[in-house]
Amino acid sequence: MKVYFIGAGPGDVELMTVKGNRRLHACSYVMYAGSLINPEILSSLPEATRICDTSKLNLEEQVAIYKEARDADRNVARLQSGDLSVYGTIAEQMRALNKIGIQYEVIPGVSSMAASAATLKSELTLPGISQTVILSRIGGRTQVPPDEDLEKLASHKCTLCLFLSIHKIKEVVKKLSIHYPPETPVIVVYKASWEDEKIIKGNIETIAGKVDEEGIRLTALILVGEVFNSEDFYDSRLYSKEYSHLFRKKNVRI
Ligand code: SAH
Repeated sequence: MKVYFIGAGPGDVELMTVKGNRRLHACSYVMYAGSLINPEILSSLPEATRICDTSKLNLEEQVAIYKEARDADRNVARLQSGDLSVYGTIAEQMRALNKIGIQYEVIPGVSSMAASAATLKSELTLPGISQTVILSRIGGRTQVPPDEDLEKLASHKCTLCLFLSIHKIKEVVKKLSIHYPPETPVIVVYKASWEDEKIIKGNIETIAGKVDEEGIRLTALILVGEVFNSEDFYDSRLYSKEYSHLFRKKNVRI
């Protein structure tokens, strides 16, 4: 018996990995975390699959389901939105499984960050503009360590990708404006890759008003940085004519 933690992707069912999808269909128990998982993913499961929405269950209740599956010798697929490596809440589950000796495997997924960049046809790192992306959030029920306060992170003026923060957009831009110039682009992507996806473009000064007008309070990423404004970057060294490297030696015929 094994638990498979599977990154279900940002929403579009075609953005779940082949491996994740195959494992999902081979499990008798499927646990998923509420509204961020596209119900279409679940609609193709065999009739007999036991499907549990974990959004109303505490950790102990979820562990009870893992134990039940172990006793029945059935595999469990645990779906989480996007990729599991950020804001996935799988660490506490893995710790609980370690304690009771249940084996597990982690299958990555497409993060909403990647899906948002794709929908914007943007690269988050541009030579000469920003070579760093900070993934973070504003503090909420889960506190952010004081050294990671947005005001401090903003001092780097690199590309920022903020999860779980859209409901506090006013507070976000207030903190960012201490370091980013007011005209710095800020883009909000609501439900990236879903049919009702929305893109709201503004800057540090204007974005909060625009988000308010649209009434967006959930399921959106806030992306900040000059990379969304600039054609003014230089070409990467990788494809430069003067530069050859292991895979593109001069005089090698392709
Ligand atoms: N592990 C997930 C993030 C889970 S935290 C990932 O890799 O994407 C939940 C937050 O992720 C939401 O509050 C929102 O900020 C963001 N999010 C998840 N799905 C999204 C989507 N399709 N479009 C935009 N933001 C999304």
